[in-house]
Amino acid sequence: MMDFVFKKRFGQNFLTDKNLLRGICTDAQICKDDEVLEIGAGAGALTKELCEFSKRVVAIEIDQDLKPVLEKIGAKNLTLIFDDVLKIETVKIDDMFEKTFKLVANLPYYITSPIIFKFLRESKKVSSITIMVQKEVAQRMVAKSGSKDYGLLSVSCAFFGTPLILRNVSRKMFCPIPDVDSCVVGMKVERGKFDIDADFFYSITKACFKSRRKTILNNLVEEFKFNKNQLCLLPFDFTRRAEELGVNEFVSLAKLIANINEEGKSK
Ligand code: SAM
Repeated sequence: MMDFVFKKRFGQNFLTDKNLLRGICTDAQICKDDEVLEIGAGAGALTKELCEFSKRVVAIEIDQDLKPVLEKIGAKNLTLIFDDVLKIETVKIDDMFEKTFKLVANLPYYITSPIIFKFLRESKKVSSITIMVQKEVAQRMVAKSGSKDYGLLSVSCAFFGTPLILRNVSRKMFCPIPDVDSCVVGMKVERGKFDIDADFFYSITKACFKSRRKTILNNLVEEFKFNKNQLCLLPFDFTRRAEELGVNEFVSLAKLIANINEEGKSK
């Protein structure tokens, strides 16, 4: 580690405090039966703790320069993969685990949201997510409708569970010290919480948030070229803006639109 040069472009801010690292394992409720996926192993400080707490760890790290450092860990229950997590098909990651896995990570800040979306929407095996993210992202993940932080990320998280901020972490705990403070956010992933296809739900929600100034009617018409009059016949107040709608209302809206799509097909 002596002559390692931290790469800002990979969001490399490492943790060293043992109490904090153990605290993250406790936050994630890791036990000896668990298989864990760690994204961004860095110099392996969290990886080592995860190996101690769990049955098995798969750690993915993009930076090949960290190979010698990570290979030194030498834990029997550790599988190291040197690749970009976003370029690995999620089904291939799922296949690395026997049953379910817990995702635990101090995430690289520049791709936090794509990673969250990837696992929530695509993984069939992730059972919980416990991640260190920058404070602003944590606030967006847990935000409720009507607040300034509420958006597509909040609705997507609420669709799959109930994210909670489990701890605040000062920027001083990282090396090098970043410009922002962080939080650990945890959520159990509940698939099938709502009776609607997750991808369809996501496409509708995403369209509704496309332009925050516009009503959901205008956003939906622009994105899907729906007939405005046909939409207005549905029992839904389309004059509202996306940030006013809770996850249950988005589900109702998506179901109504799914019905008109079905009717259209059967004509
Ligand atoms: N887990 C370590 C810790 O807590 O000290 C390091 C965390 S650091 C915030 C994020 C790590 O993710 C870095 O080691 C970085 O190289 C890695 N990383 C960045 N982008 C990645 C990607 N697309 N796929 C896999 N790892 C990535």
